[in-house]
Amino acid sequence: MHEMSIAISIIDIVESYAKENGAGKVLSVTVDIGDLSGVDAEGVKFCYEASCAGSLAQGSEIVINKITAAGWCPICETEFRPPHKFVMCPDCESFGCKIICGEQLEVREMKVE
Ligand SMILES: [Zn+2]
Repeated sequence: MHEMSIAISIIDIVESYAKENGAGKVLSVTVDIGDLSGVDAEGVKFCYEASCAGSLAQGSEIVINKITAAGWCPICETEFRPPHKFVMCPDCESFGCKIICGEQLEVREMKVE
């Protein structure tokens, strides 16, 4: 289960952050999940809530910040929304496009006390 291992890594990250900052518990964590990360945001949220019992993250809130993917075509110099990682420019049909955004999966913000 991919989402479960991601949820557990997020809990590890927030717990070590809380410990480093001398905090007793985690209040919330905000996670950026890109459209193209291949991760099911709802699944991560579910697994996080199911796995945080007994950790410093118990009872904390996980906020998923979904990031809309963006691709860039250097030939027509346009930005577009790619449906998947292997992108073709919708205008010139070039395959030389770059994904500029949407693959991220990272903890953006944590609140502890
Ligand atoms: Zn193009």
